[in-house]
Amino acid sequence: SKCIRLDKYLADMGLGTRTEVKEYIKKGKITVDGLVIKKPEQKINANEQKICMEGKQIVYEEWEYYMLNKPAGVVSAVSDAREKTVIDLITTTKRKDLFPVGRLDKDTEGLLLITNDGKLSHSLLSPKKHVDKTYYAKIDGMITEKEIEQFAKGICLKEESKREKRKGTEGIFTLPAKLKILSSADCSEVEITIQEGKYHQVKRMFEAVGTKVIYLKRLAMGNLVLDKALRPGEYRPLTEEEVEQLK
Ligand code: URA
Repeated sequence: SKCIRLDKYLADMGLGTRTEVKEYIKKGKITVDGLVIKKPEQKINANEQKICMEGKQIVYEEWEYYMLNKPAGVVSAVSDAREKTVIDLITTTKRKDLFPVGRLDKDTEGLLLITNDGKLSHSLLSPKKHVDKTYYAKIDGMITEKEIEQFAKGICLKEESKREKRKGTEGIFTLPAKLKILSSADCSEVEITIQEGKYHQVKRMFEAVGTKVIYLKRLAMGNLVLDKALRPGEYRPLTEEEVEQLK
């Protein structure tokens, strides 16, 4: 175990920039084994000493996981020259390595997992894993038993993305999807569970049966369910239990 400068350690832990953490140290906010240390260059051994900021112990979290209720109008990217991104909404951490697990369209709301855990992300998005994603949708059009049956068999989508066009097929079939009607009239409300994440998949499935999605919100992904207390734009860390259930 190595000794490093106190200011470097605090900055590495994501508590602030080197300048910011030097300020905290000089203001007496940092204790090492219970003693206030005011010298940024003080060498510490993080494995053996207890470092606190304003009385709260600093523990290194290698992996971070957040559940975001994505609002409409932000893009599912890490950074973007013009648009606000989902990562811009995560303001309580200074980590630079967070990314969204998969994408929701700009106008789609709801559950988006934000993490720096590439391995978990990979396994959740793997086409082989068929991780269920459940959405609430408002549909312009009538939804009946007929659509439930069509969705249960799988829907043939027209190619839309460049990648799909390059494959040059007649159309692509979705895996069976579960459709639950919540209300049916000229404008219907449904819950739909799909096992894949093809480009604009839910919107294209409803288009394929002659209707149109006018509002879309993701409610769940695998075992992870959107916390009803989170309003659009709000987020919270996952509990340990939620993280375990995703693995
Ligand atoms: N399907 C869509 O069409 N859009 C999304 O954002 C997610 C699933």
